[in-house]
Amino acid sequence: MAEEKSAKKDIRPYVPPKECPKCGSRMANHADRYTCGKCSYTEFKSQAKEAQTEQKAQDAKKPQKPKQGKKDSGAAV
Ligand SMILES: [Zn+2]
Repeated sequence: MAEEKSAKKDIRPYVPPKECPKCGSRMANHADRYTCGKCSYTEFKSQAKEAQTEQKAQDAKKPQKPKQGKKDSGAAV
């Protein structure tokens, strides 16, 4: 049981190094792109980029609650 837990915590999806389609050498794995150090070929990860921008947009859209409470005080006739 304990073994299963620790194994789960340590799990990381293995991503094989991407090979440059131009020169065939291994490309550097960046957060949003792959870059070849030999011929400087760059391939963007469009999917990851989209998800990130979506999250950012949601963060910036914080609804502001207008303060209310003055209206209700002493309005009764
Ligand atoms: Zn290359």
